[in-house]
Amino acid sequence: MTDLKGRVAVVTGSTSGIGLAVAQGLAAKGADVVINGFGDAAAIETERAGIEQKYGVKAWYNGADLSVEAGVKSLIKDAVAKAGKIDILVNNAGIQHTAPVESFPTEKWNLILSLMLSAPFYAIQEALPVMRKNGWGRIINIASVHGLVASMQKAAYVSAKHGLIGLTKVVALETAKEPITCNAICPGWVHTPLVQKQIDDIAAKQGISNDEARDKLLSEKQPSGAFTKPEDIAAMIVFLCSEHAQQMRGSSWVQDGGWTAQ
Ligand code: NAD
Repeated sequence: MTDLKGRVAVVTGSTSGIGLAVAQGLAAKGADVVINGFGDAAAIETERAGIEQKYGVKAWYNGADLSVEAGVKSLIKDAVAKAGKIDILVNNAGIQHTAPVESFPTEKWNLILSLMLSAPFYAIQEALPVMRKNGWGRIINIASVHGLVASMQKAAYVSAKHGLIGLTKVVALETAKEPITCNAICPGWVHTPLVQKQIDDIAAKQGISNDEARDKLLSEKQPSGAFTKPEDIAAMIVFLCSEHAQQMRGSSWVQDGGWTAQ
């Protein structure tokens, strides 16, 4: 059983989907957590307070916009000011936009690269010295199967995720002799608001029901025909935070229902 009591985790994009499950999963093992992301203020406060009450840990919320460098740096600085340190950094915040490459909007390209590649870079730059000072750290980058293989119409997302896997390897090498590890996780389809939007788009474009669109999305890529659950990703991160994962460095851990085995 991994005991994370006394650890402090920052999970970006944790007001929804995978990030929320990861914050809850780390808190369930005793870690204090800093949550981040957009959404309804009252709903976020309910989640934050719920984490404190259910797991008996401290939980803070910081709503910084991570698509800009100053936002990322303020999130990490604020976390250190409030919690005193950072032991676990989960770079998770992300968005999607689909369009053919020749008409892919430049502002969406810039936004996706900023949020999903530059933000992890800035967060690592800011958090690594804090981890080094405390002599322990876990950096986990939520990449995707799209960090390993491509799909059409996802130029920015696939580029950002491939880049994030490269960044993961570099950080793992630079910390290889230290008790600090850096790994990536590559989920296939996980049923979250980010994916529901893509199901809605398929249903609208093809004039089919939501259930049919969901089955179509799954069957095109994920041989298991089932979604990975956000809690499955959280459990993997808890393991990566354990001492048994000390020599897991610079790897991309896949949970994709067989997507990349094809
Ligand atoms: P989601 O839409 O449920 O959650 C995204 C989170 O990011 C939210 O908390 C949102 O508020 C936050 N966010 C968005 N823009 C932000 C910004 N500018 N600054 C700060 N926070 C911001 O999505 P999800 O499916 O849980 O995705 C989480 C991560 O997992 C993403 O990096 C995504 O690429 C990756 N991923 C998801 C899947 C999937 O199938 N859902 C598969 C592979 C990888």
